[in-house]
Amino acid sequence: MAETGPARRAKQVQTVRGPVSASRLGRVLAHEHIFVLSPEFLVNYPEYEGFREASDVPEAVRRLNELAAEGIDTIVDPTVVGLGRDIRRIQRVAAEVDLNIVVATGLYTYRDLPHFLHQRGPGGPFGDAEPLVEMFVGDITDGIAGTGVKAGVLKCVTDRAGITSGIARVLRAVAEAHHRTGTPIMTHTHAGSRQGLAQQNAFEAEGVDLSRVLIGHCGDTTDLDYLMALADRGSLLGMDRFGVDTILPFERRVDTVVRLCERGYDEHLVLSHDAACYIDWLPRDKLPSVLPNWHYLHITRDVLPALRQRGVTERQLRRMLVDNPRRFLAGD
Ligand SMILES: [Zn+2]
Repeated sequence: MAETGPARRAKQVQTVRGPVSASRLGRVLAHEHIFVLSPEFLVNYPEYEGFREASDVPEAVRRLNELAAEGIDTIVDPTVVGLGRDIRRIQRVAAEVDLNIVVATGLYTYRDLPHFLHQRGPGGPFGDAEPLVEMFVGDITDGIAGTGVKAGVLKCVTDRAGITSGIARVLRAVAEAHHRTGTPIMTHTHAGSRQGLAQQNAFEAEGVDLSRVLIGHCGDTTDLDYLMALADRGSLLGMDRFGVDTILPFERRVDTVVRLCERGYDEHLVLSHDAACYIDWLPRDKLPSVLPNWHYLHITRDVLPALRQRGVTERQLRRMLVDNPRRFLAGD
């Protein structure tokens, strides 16, 4: 039966501060982190170039409010286990920013699973079910770590190493959690080795509708054949590393988006930076000189003007910033 009339409820998307109507997501940056941290190093070597709770949390609040003032309404933060996710800290930030923050469940690794999982689940000595499925589904349906904050996206990774046995377990668990909850899937890929296609194959084998999958880091390549092949199978493409000019410079990232728009692929693109307020993978003091454009405001200040100058229309920009992310997050 068609969903019409007063009984039809507006689609809701989960954010840190609770469910938000999909129509209120506004302009979305589809892949931004707030903090990417290495908790074991933080606990054991706090003196070694670490995270500073007292100053980094207020600084994140300041920078996210600055982003909201630029006209961005929502960010998707795919910081999952493996990247130092701490939802209570994100709640403290979210309480003070005028921005929707959609958080994720999933697991971030390029090759092996953490030892915590080696003896648990399929292939282990106890014959138990995959614990990742229960973890992911719990984060989506009950909330994360007792906070009640529900994940709005599933996240997984395929890097240069391809689909190792550990990665295969994560992809299968993500697919299963997706089937049980309807939550969309976003990924990290190594674009240079065309890992997005391998991810699509893996998800297709698990019966996932590929239009519910956002293949991440597509903007790291200029390989249009690869990108169009991903889009032709229905997925969204994350042009989501604007500012990471060491992998691919600004002009070439812009040019790739322009050429996809010219070919009518704007219905498949989302824009973002994959930036963070603080990431402890890189020395704090060196980051600005190595990646000066890698911050939340590069898209609004530099990328959008460049796209307009190259003939991308307001309607196409709206698709990439508003319509496509909403369709992805809300599933309509
Ligand atoms: Zn990321």
